[in-house]
Amino acid sequence: MRITIIGSGYVGLVTAAGLAETGADVVCMDIDSARTDALRAGRIPFHEPGLDELIARNRERLRFVSDMAEVVDTLPDVTFVCVGTPSAPNGSADLSAVDAACCSFAQHASERPDAPWRSPILAIKSTVPPGTCDAIEKLLHATVPWPRIEIVSTPEFLKEGSAVHDFRRPDVVVVGRDPRSAAIDAIDRTMRELYAPCLRTHGRLILTDRRSSEMAKYAVNSALAVRISHMNDVAMLCDLAGADADIVRTVVGSDERIGPRFLFPGVGFGGSCLPKDTRAMIAMARRHDVRLPMVEAALDANRRQADMFCAMADKALFGSDAPIAVWGLAFKPGTDDVREAPALVLVRHLLGQGVTVRVHDPKAMDAARRALADVDGPRLEWAEDRHEALEGAGVLALLTEWPVYRSMDWRRVAETMAGPGAVLDGRNIWDPEVVRAAGLSYRGVGRR
Ligand code: NAD
Repeated sequence: MRITIIGSGYVGLVTAAGLAETGADVVCMDIDSARTDALRAGRIPFHEPGLDELIARNRERLRFVSDMAEVVDTLPDVTFVCVGTPSAPNGSADLSAVDAACCSFAQHASERPDAPWRSPILAIKSTVPPGTCDAIEKLLHATVPWPRIEIVSTPEFLKEGSAVHDFRRPDVVVVGRDPRSAAIDAIDRTMRELYAPCLRTHGRLILTDRRSSEMAKYAVNSALAVRISHMNDVAMLCDLAGADADIVRTVVGSDERIGPRFLFPGVGFGGSCLPKDTRAMIAMARRHDVRLPMVEAALDANRRQADMFCAMADKALFGSDAPIAVWGLAFKPGTDDVREAPALVLVRHLLGQGVTVRVHDPKAMDAARRALADVDGPRLEWAEDRHEALEGAGVLALLTEWPVYRSMDWRRVAETMAGPGAVLDGRNIWDPEVVRAAGLSYRGVGRR
């Protein structure tokens, strides 16, 4: 099958490489020509475990281009749109990149009147509000009457850090199409065939209408956000009531009706999806003149969590001019993505207070340098090594639970830090007793 992908980011590249591994010929297009050049030279523009090997293994079926004409030249059966949908200033999803990608594809396709098209499929993987596919279809059919492009919604559920695994073994694949389309049987056949290798032993394919498919993605992300924020509410109360949030979490997660995943109290959720998708849902509801109190509360609690951690750091630093070491900048382990990472909120806050901040992350240093370029200066120090970050520091704050931070020599940590160092465990990964035994003070989230 001939596949093209528009947008070579986390979603686009993983999809491209994953489909190439199933035998498809894939052309990957991105308007960022520097990114395309890097990919052609074999450089992967971000950290995603296993992706470089996957791309290297399937190189002969992967081509990287920056020109939409080359996408259309291949007469693709399916073109996946995987461009970003960031938050607009009012919180809604900014669809300009999706619109631009679809219009450009249609325009180029219409310039090939001799092409033997069989209703090319534009499959929208970007996260878009319900009604977006309908609107794109209307726009394309009004402006580009030929060829008839079938617009399909197929939201992506992969998780950064395990994206390659998630592509191969998705829990669910959703395909939303217009039930009135004359090509619906062909669409279903094509999409089934395309996803079949990933669904042989695991997961399910749900064929539905486009709006339900689009909405399902927001429902999943808001459910995760609510779950995390609820547990952070519980953790705050644990702290005030003298209970241990880690024990409480274990009990809650042992209940089969609830389950253990996405229950960890901490400094709050970040990343490129949960914050922006919950904001977009709230904006969608506003347009329908309703409110989503649960989703709004999840976002409020998330902001409170970040503020609370900043206040904990202020308290731990009080009266000292020693630097603070911040371990972990990525929004979660396994990725170098720092979009809306809680660590960046803390770093900006501390720099604003005049504190010297020494940061370390095993993978996200370059991404963080770019994201913090506007506040970079002599008080923001970039440590090559986790212990180097600790030298003379009065406080150690952990923001991302990378495996390399889990098993520490606490005597060495205490000796490297200045005075009776304070440890702020923003992910509750360390044993308070063990940390204290080394002469350090310990604060976690919902546990003392
Ligand atoms: P990304 O920012 O990593 O990549 C987007 C890419 O699209 C960039 O390389 C950009 O240069 C390119 N692009 C932008 N406009 C373009 C255009 N007009 N033509 C061609 N290329 C263009 O984004 P991402 O994280 O891969 O997310 C893509 C979409 O998938 C978003 O809607 C996101 O919400 C959704 N999503 C992301 C994840 C995730 O974990 N990152 C998971 C599920 C869904």
